[in-house]
Amino acid sequence: MKLDYLDKFSGTLLGVSIGDTLGRPFEGMLRERIYSHFNDFKEFINNNKKLFNSYTDDTQLTLHTAEALIQGSGFNTNNFIREYVRWLEDPPIGPGFGCISSIQKLKYGISWKKAASNSGGNGTAMRVSPIGLFYCKDIKNLEKSALKSSIITHSHPAASAGAIVIARAIAFLIDKKPETGFSIDEFFETIILSISNSQEKIWEEFIEILNKVKQNLSISIEAGLTKFSQVGVKSPYFIEEYLGKAFVHPYTLSTVACAIFVFLKKLNSFEDCIFQLATAGGDSDTVGAIGGSLAGAYFGLKNIPDDLINLVKNHKNILKVSEQLHLKFKEKYKMI
Ligand SMILES: [Mg+2]
Repeated sequence: MKLDYLDKFSGTLLGVSIGDTLGRPFEGMLRERIYSHFNDFKEFINNNKKLFNSYTDDTQLTLHTAEALIQGSGFNTNNFIREYVRWLEDPPIGPGFGCISSIQKLKYGISWKKAASNSGGNGTAMRVSPIGLFYCKDIKNLEKSALKSSIITHSHPAASAGAIVIARAIAFLIDKKPETGFSIDEFFETIILSISNSQEKIWEEFIEILNKVKQNLSISIEAGLTKFSQVGVKSPYFIEEYLGKAFVHPYTLSTVACAIFVFLKKLNSFEDCIFQLATAGGDSDTVGAIGGSLAGAYFGLKNIPDDLINLVKNHKNILKVSEQLHLKFKEKYKMI
């Protein structure tokens, strides 16, 4: 059967917003504390319904990324800067410091080379999924655009590595179906290749981390989150108190490693996957958003339960943006 790209585009953007919405109330909490509130997914949803009333900056910035691509029929630096500056009027919900400080500078006309903060925070990986969708048939431009979209706000190489890997993973997953699955080896080969042509030390460190994630897929989710929660984090950012606990650090390498790990552990259903992502602990909304983009790209909208879609604020608008992005993709790449 032919692939329904619109279903995958919508699934990806909805996946971001569902993971973000479900993770938001638990941001900054240890996983063990989150789990003291409920036993299973049903209880998780029913006990916390009132808390799931909003998404955060992850979804907001993902939508602005999509809008920028729609306006330019692809990546264009000025459109991206304009859209990220427009985000300041949303107004931002729970933004990271590195992200908002650089975008405020962009607002006042400072060039991106000077405005970008040296933050290795996960703010660029969480907003990159529309680039993975739009350029899924054009990998050279996918990697170039993911890099450019990152460095206009974050000059740190961890941020750009995370953005490229997530965009590349989306493009890989869009062609796969849950009915037939995919090769885990091929998945890692593909995403590692996307950051292999660099002398950048942190990119090499990220490759090592991704290899470790691959080697540890047989351990439990709890054990994996404990192992990768602060992977790559350096002093003075490392939180010693949380060593040996599941609390995902908002550093790009640790967040992306945890999101990929949980996603690959839960390929059985979107529901199971998003539940585990959003309850990761620590930066739960962003693990939810990044992992949700992967889950949405893989499962597609048709495998996302309606009650989860209806939970998301403005979900009709997110579906509309997905349709517009898909239309531009179809026009540019002559896809039917
Ligand atoms: Mg957030």
